[in-house]
Amino acid sequence: MTNWVYRFGLSVGSAGKNCARMLGGKGANLSEMAAIGLPVPPGFIISTEACHMFSDKSSAFHSTLSIEVSEALRDLEECLGAGFGDPERPLLLSVRSGAQVSMPGMMDTVLNLGLNNLTVDGLARHSGDARFAWDSYRRFIQMYADVVLGIDHGLFETALEKAKAEGRASSDAALSVGQLQSLVVLYQAIVVQHTGQAFPQDVEEQLWGAVGAVFASWNSDRAKIYRRINGIADILGTAVTVQAMVFGNKGGTSATGVAFTRNPSTGAPGIFGEFLINAQGEDVVAGIRTPHPLTVAKQQAAGTHNLCLEEAMPLAFRELENACSLLERHYRDMQDIEFTIEEGKLWLLQTRSGKRTIAAALKIAIDLVEEQLIEPNEAVLRIDPAQIDHLLHPTVAPDLEVSPIARGLAASPGAVSGRIALDTCSAEALCAKGDPVILVRAETSPEDIHGMHIATGILTARGGMTSHAAVVARGMGRPCISAVSVLQIDETTRRAHLGEHEFDEGDFITIDGSTGYVYPGQIPTVKGELSEDFMKIMVWADAARRMRVRANADSPEDAETARKLGAEGIGLCRTEHMFFEPARIAAVREMILAGSQQERQCALAKLLPEQRRDFTRIFEAMAGFPVTIRLLDPPLHEFLPQTEAEFDALAQSSGLDVAQLRRRAEELREFNPMLGHRGCRLAVTYPEIYEMQVRAILEAACEVDGEVTPEIMVPLAVSKPELAAMKQLIDRTATDVFAETGKSVEYLVGSMIELPRAALRAGELAEVAAFFSFGTNDLTQTTFGMSRDDSTPFMIDYLRQGLLSRDPFINLDVDGVGELMALACERALKARPSIKLGICGEHGGDPYSINACERMQLDYVSASPFRVPAARLAAAHARLLAGVNVNTEQAA
Ligand code: PEP
Ligand code: MG
Repeated sequence: MTNWVYRFGLSVGSAGKNCARMLGGKGANLSEMAAIGLPVPPGFIISTEACHMFSDKSSAFHSTLSIEVSEALRDLEECLGAGFGDPERPLLLSVRSGAQVSMPGMMDTVLNLGLNNLTVDGLARHSGDARFAWDSYRRFIQMYADVVLGIDHGLFETALEKAKAEGRASSDAALSVGQLQSLVVLYQAIVVQHTGQAFPQDVEEQLWGAVGAVFASWNSDRAKIYRRINGIADILGTAVTVQAMVFGNKGGTSATGVAFTRNPSTGAPGIFGEFLINAQGEDVVAGIRTPHPLTVAKQQAAGTHNLCLEEAMPLAFRELENACSLLERHYRDMQDIEFTIEEGKLWLLQTRSGKRTIAAALKIAIDLVEEQLIEPNEAVLRIDPAQIDHLLHPTVAPDLEVSPIARGLAASPGAVSGRIALDTCSAEALCAKGDPVILVRAETSPEDIHGMHIATGILTARGGMTSHAAVVARGMGRPCISAVSVLQIDETTRRAHLGEHEFDEGDFITIDGSTGYVYPGQIPTVKGELSEDFMKIMVWADAARRMRVRANADSPEDAETARKLGAEGIGLCRTEHMFFEPARIAAVREMILAGSQQERQCALAKLLPEQRRDFTRIFEAMAGFPVTIRLLDPPLHEFLPQTEAEFDALAQSSGLDVAQLRRRAEELREFNPMLGHRGCRLAVTYPEIYEMQVRAILEAACEVDGEVTPEIMVPLAVSKPELAAMKQLIDRTATDVFAETGKSVEYLVGSMIELPRAALRAGELAEVAAFFSFGTNDLTQTTFGMSRDDSTPFMIDYLRQGLLSRDPFINLDVDGVGELMALACERALKARPSIKLGICGEHGGDPYSINACERMQLDYVSASPFRVPAARLAAAHARLLAGVNVNTEQAA
C-alpha cells in the first residue's frame, strides 16, 4: 500500500532519513533534524508523489490521503495536547511547500492555519496574550487570501497601512488589540468582496485549501521559470510540510530569523544572519522590516546600534550556535537555517545547504577539506562551474574619481552599468533594444524573477542580506545591492530618486555589488582576479579530470589570456577572424573579389606576412602545447563590402575599379551563404588561398623551431576524396616550405566534423585525418535545419511550449547531434584507433555539453578563453560523476 503521509518529531511512524525525493528537501531535513535530537516542531509531510495525483480527481487517492492526514493530525494533537479547530486550546499549523531541489521563495506557504472567529479567542485565552492572537489571525487571513484565494496582498497591505495611520501606530507591533480586531473585520470584508464568500471558518476546509494551493504553486509561472533557468525537471513535484506552529510574534522574548553557519558572501567561518524580535518568518525574508544582525561582531562591523541576538537573547543565541555547528558536521556543508524563538525557547524550522557567492563557495570547500569533513574531489564537486564566471566579474576601477551617490548592502558581487528599469516589463523592453538593464525596485518578490534574470544588475530600497532579492541574485550571479535606504521610486512619473539625485527610467547607473556603492551614469570597471582559493580548487579539479581543455583563440592576445586561465593548447584558431582588423580586411576583400588568379595572388602576398607574424606569436604563447589552426572558412557575406564608403575605400587601397568591384560582389552574393561557397569548397576553386595559409603556418612553426606541433584543420569537409585533395595540397606546400627554409617540423592534418554527412562518413574521413574536431555550431545548425543566426526568436517559443527542453545552440542536443557525434567517434576509432577527438563548437565551454563529451570519451574540449576555467571544472565534474549520471537528461 502506498503511504502518502510521513511523520516527524512524533513518536509514531517517523520518516526515514535521506528521502528528499519523496519528502522534498525541507521535509527530509526536518525529519533528520528531529532524528538527531534538535528542537523541531512536530508535524507530517505529504509526499511529492501526491503532488501530481492531487490535481487528478481520483476519489480512491483522495479518500486514502484524507484518512492518512487525519491520522497524522490526531497524533499531532495528542503530542501537543491541543486540538485542530478546538476553541479552547487550538492547534495551529504551518503549511509549506518543499521540493527535492530547493527553490527559494518560488512556492507558497501558509502560516497560523487553524484560526477562525472562535479559535482566536481560545488562542488569546490560552496564551494570555490577546494582541498576539489577533495579530496572528490578521496575518493568517492575509496570507490565506493571497495564496489560496488569489486575492492581491496589496489590498491588505493598504488596509494595514491605513489602520496604522489612523491609530497613529509607528509599526505593526504598535497596533492595539482593538485595532487588530477591526483590521480582521476589514480583512474579512475584503475577502467577501473579492470571492463573494465568507472567509472559511471550517479548519478542515482551510487545511485542504492550503494543501491544494501549495501543490498548485509547483505549476505557477514563477516556479516554472525558476525551474527552466535552473534546469530542474518539471516532473519532480513538491511535497507539503504540515507542522505545528511556533510563534516568534509572542512579544519581546520571541523572535524569528535566518542564520547561515558561515558567511555566504565571503565564506568566513562563524554564524551569520539576521533576525527580528516579535515577528513571524515572512517579515524577515520579505524585506518589509529591516532585520538586525545576529552577532555583536557583525553589529559593530555594520556600525549600527540595532540590538543583536547575541545581546538580546544570549541563551537562545548559544543554543543556535551549537545547533549550527552540529548541523554543519551532520550535513558536511554550510547550512542556511530558519529559526524561531518562542518565549525564549529556540525552534529550528528549516535547514538546507546555503546559497553562496563563488568566493564563499571556494573558501568553504577548502576549509571543509582542511577540517577533514570532505575529500578534495568532493570539494571540486561543490563548486558550480557556471559560478566560476563570477570570479571573473569586474569591479569599479580603484582609482576612480567619481563619488558614489548611495550605499546599500553588498548583496551579490560584481560591478555593472545599465539603464534603470522599474519593473520587469520595462526591463524586457530595454533588453529588446540590446541595452543592459539594472532592475530598480522597492523590494523584489518572486514575481520579479524574469526581470531579475534578464537584468545585468539589481538594486532594491528594502530587504536584507537574506531577502528574496539577495538570495536569488546571488544564485543567479547577478550583481545586487539591497536596502538602499535613500532610494525612492515614483511609479507615476517613472522616476527613481537616490537621495538628491533623480533619474528617469532608462537613465544609466552603475552598481557595485561587491561594495554596495551606487554611481551615476556608466562607470569604468576592472576585471576580477583569480584568487588563491580558486587556484587551489583548480589544482584538485585538474587532477580529477581526464579530458584536456583547450581554447578557441584567434589572436596572440587571446592565446596569452587562454594560457593564463589554464588552457592546454588551442583547439580552434579561426583564421578568418584574424582578418577582421581594419588594416587587413581590405586585403581579404581584394582576395575574395579578385577577378583573376594574378589579382588574388597579389592580395594573398599582402596577407602572408601578417598571418605568419600572428602564428609565430600564437605559437610562442602556446609553446609546448598543441595548436589547431583552421584554414579559411569565410561565409562570404561576412567579408563582402556593404556600403558605398566600403567600396570606395577598397577601390582606393587596391587600385581596382569601383564598378568592377561592385559587379564582382554582385556575382558572389549568395542566397544562403552558410551553405554556400565557404570552408574547403573555397580552396577547391582557389587552392592558392590555402597554400598561402599553410605556408604562413609552417614558416612560423619553423621560426619557433618546432616548439609546437601545428594541427592544420580543414573546415566543412564531407568526403574522403575532398579531404584527401586538401591533405595533398597541405603536404605539397609543406614540402616546398621545408625545402626553402632548410628546416622541417612535425604537423598533423585533420578535419572539422560539422556536417551530418561528415559525421556519417567519419570512417572514410579518418583514413585521411589524424584528428577530428566537432564543430557543433554548424553541426547543430545543419542537423536541425535551423539557422544559428536566425533561430533565437522562434527558439523562445519552442522552449516556452516545451517542444525542446533546451536551446540546442547552447546545450548540446545529446539525443540528435550527440548521436551523430557518438556514431562518428565509433566509426573514426575503428578506422584509426589513434585518432584525436575534440570539440570546438561553443558547446565546448558549456558544462552540460562537456558532461556529454566525457561520456563520448572525447580527448579534449575547446572553449573561449574566459570559459576555460569553468570548462576545466566541468570536465572534472563530468569525470567524477561518470557512471553516476549516465542519463543526465532524466536526472536533471
Ligand atoms: C562550428 O561550426 O562549430 C565551428 C566551431 O565553426 P564556426 O563557428 O566558425 O562555424
Ligand atoms: Mg563551423
